[in-house]
Amino acid sequence: MSLKITKDCINCGACEECCPTGAICEDPELNARVIDPKRCTECVGFYERTMCQVECPVECCLPDPEQRESQAELLAKAKELYPDYEFPSPPPSHIN
Ligand code: SF4
Ligand code: SF4
Repeated sequence: MSLKITKDCINCGACEECCPTGAICEDPELNARVIDPKRCTECVGFYERTMCQVECPVECCLPDPEQRESQAELLAKAKELYPDYEFPSPPPSHIN
């Protein structure tokens, strides 16, 4: 299940910094961050916990019931995004 960001977002950017798959970007019209469900793996393949939820200061990163996926599907998504990685894997270098 991908996560989504609610309207409580204060657009601080902490989630974007820690996302291992580059799934989060700013939406200038909303003045908030948004999550691309095609790139969110719930951090499966990289971390034990969903890092945007861990880092968000206002707890507005929540599971999206519209985007239900199994652990296997989430891992498959991670492998599709990063075909050259062995999973589980350290996060891609773009967040370091
Ligand atoms: S759950 Fe993980 S992969 Fe999904 S948006 Fe949050 S940090 Fe990125
Ligand atoms: S960490 Fe939370 S408040 Fe900050 S930009 Fe991300 S979703 Fe919004």
